[in-house]
Amino acid sequence: MPHRDPRTNRLLSLLSDDDYEHLRRHLSQVDLEYRKSLYEASRPIEHVYFPVEGVASLVITTTEGASAEVGTIGSEGMVGLPVCLGSRDAPSAVYVQVPGTALMMDVGAFRSELERSPTVNLTMLRYAHAFFNQVAQSAACAHLHLVEQRCCRWLLMTRDRMPSADFLLTHEFLGMMLGVRRTTVTEVMSALQKEGLIRYRRGHVTVLDHEALRLRACECYEVSKLEFDRLLGDTALAPRTDRKHRLVSEIGRMG
Ligand SMILES: [Zn+2]
Repeated sequence: MPHRDPRTNRLLSLLSDDDYEHLRRHLSQVDLEYRKSLYEASRPIEHVYFPVEGVASLVITTTEGASAEVGTIGSEGMVGLPVCLGSRDAPSAVYVQVPGTALMMDVGAFRSELERSPTVNLTMLRYAHAFFNQVAQSAACAHLHLVEQRCCRWLLMTRDRMPSADFLLTHEFLGMMLGVRRTTVTEVMSALQKEGLIRYRRGHVTVLDHEALRLRACECYEVSKLEFDRLLGDTALAPRTDRKHRLVSEIGRMG
């Protein structure tokens, strides 16, 4: 897998060079394989992850064994938020749903960095807020919007987190994200394929018409995106001088 710039991860890109240097010493690159567990429900979180590409999924499993996905995490965020909020475990688990790569860090070292640097801590708290808003938006979305609109939203969200328009997305994952049966997933994806918006073969999606997908998606896609830009576009606290930093701060002002 070709290596992308580690600071493709939005949170790492927002840190000052000094803060990033402190974290970098503890970061190691890992592959995010399909279905890999990043932490389990009610078990101590040992590592935090900053995805560079790919999508991880926050999943609740009932006592009967049924699972529902309640949030997704990609290159805009990090896996291990409970640690930033003062807890070592959570009732939900996190699994990889779209393969990719991430930077992994030991929880103890990460906690020390949160205590050492107010700017690292604030960046993570802002992400926690943006993530909460994403989960809240998705809860409303599941009640109010049509399956096809929601499917287009998830396709766009996944596309945004990948380096190319072609990625792995299983029926099973789409069904769990949308809370519908696999047959419904097949119907919706077939319709989108027929109209030339995507190609979908053996769990591989290729986004062919990004603009048409945007028009077809519900408003939740844009709302969540703008909220992330508003909360994580402000880099005044963490001055950096490279081009990517300026781009991030420009996005912030627009949001
Ligand atoms: Zn929606």
